[in-house]
Amino acid sequence: MHRVLHNGRVDGARTSVELRAHNRVRLLRAVHECGAGRTRSELTRDLDLARGTASVLVTGLIDDDLVSESPTPGHARGRPTQVPGPHPHGPLVLAADLREDAWDLAVCEIGGRTTVVDSRSHDGSPTGALPPLGDAIRAQLGPRVVGVGVAVAGPVRSGRIVDIAHLSWRDVDVAELLAVGHAPLHIGNDARLAGLAEARRGRLRGVDLGLHLHVDFDPGGTLLVNGTPLAGGSGTAGEFGHMPLADPSGMPADRRRHCACGAQGCWSLQVGGNALLDHFGLTTGGGRGRSVSERILADAARGDPAAVEAVAVNARALGMGIGALVNALDPRVVTLSGMGTDLLALARDEIEAAYLAGLMAFRRPRPAEIAPSTLDRRGPLIGAMESAFDAFLTVPGLQGWRASHARSDELFPPTDVASKSAR
Ligand SMILES: [Zn+2]
Repeated sequence: MHRVLHNGRVDGARTSVELRAHNRVRLLRAVHECGAGRTRSELTRDLDLARGTASVLVTGLIDDDLVSESPTPGHARGRPTQVPGPHPHGPLVLAADLREDAWDLAVCEIGGRTTVVDSRSHDGSPTGALPPLGDAIRAQLGPRVVGVGVAVAGPVRSGRIVDIAHLSWRDVDVAELLAVGHAPLHIGNDARLAGLAEARRGRLRGVDLGLHLHVDFDPGGTLLVNGTPLAGGSGTAGEFGHMPLADPSGMPADRRRHCACGAQGCWSLQVGGNALLDHFGLTTGGGRGRSVSERILADAARGDPAAVEAVAVNARALGMGIGALVNALDPRVVTLSGMGTDLLALARDEIEAAYLAGLMAFRRPRPAEIAPSTLDRRGPLIGAMESAFDAFLTVPGLQGWRASHARSDELFPPTDVASKSAR
């Protein structure tokens, strides 16, 4: 067997036909990963291809409706340089970000442009959240859709079984409740997908060992090794929010409680939206309270003393946990997304003081930098897109596309997605 490694090198291609198939994948992957922002000659150089080879490959990709070329913007004289980008009839991926209180659904094209087409709040129950999202996904399916990526706010087992502690989801079969038929479905943890997005299109691009933390109602994350999130033995690594960083015996009696995950002393009890609510004695769980926690952040930004203190408590706990993770894992950079970027903007000093205090002395002269995500709130959605395109941007993926799109779009009714993915 052979495969295209993520760095673009080909492992085990033997014949010229195999090599050409692999180079098609490399080229299309490069177009996707650069955001359709590099010229044909730049890509040729990046991939170390001969000019003639690149020309043949691009022509083949254009013939298969996988890319189209447009002239470099602002080109003035001579023959314009062409920039390969998404084809108007080319492959699409659907990406969903399922949070504890709402979801977004986006349509995404080669190059990474994502367009949110539907967003709804839900009641936190599996049947309240998932079937309507499944309906919205099915409404978007068509012959151009090559995969569906879904980010969920909990650990994912066997690619489909999800637990979300704050919503009391136990062994929820997300794939069954979404019921999207034969469309290839890729379900992943939101924090890990946010890290994947950061590695592909954000601050962790090109970083050999990065730690990403995504903070929403509570924190989660992933360690990225050469851009690949560490999955863990059963696929559930990265539940950093459930490290027992807080000694419950040292807490006041009224706070000596178990985390919704079943463990006690979890970092989650101190960091994120739920911890902000808890600071003011408000009820947490069930996906409630996002607007209240956002108001607390806004109040803190305006200097309201109680909100500033709540944010500082949260920030110190965040910094302490980052110190523990950096001592253990030695990442080059730590990136924060979701509410983590707000905490960094509002209370960087508190985060860094707690972080440095928790670092081993030999690390302190050159501590790993803590940086905000460059992807705003879209990390989980972008990561969900990448997980679906990763499965498509392979030799079998492109062969399947070619077989089902041979020359005439009209031959393929909307049900084609089901038949294509069933192969
Ligand atoms: Zn926990």
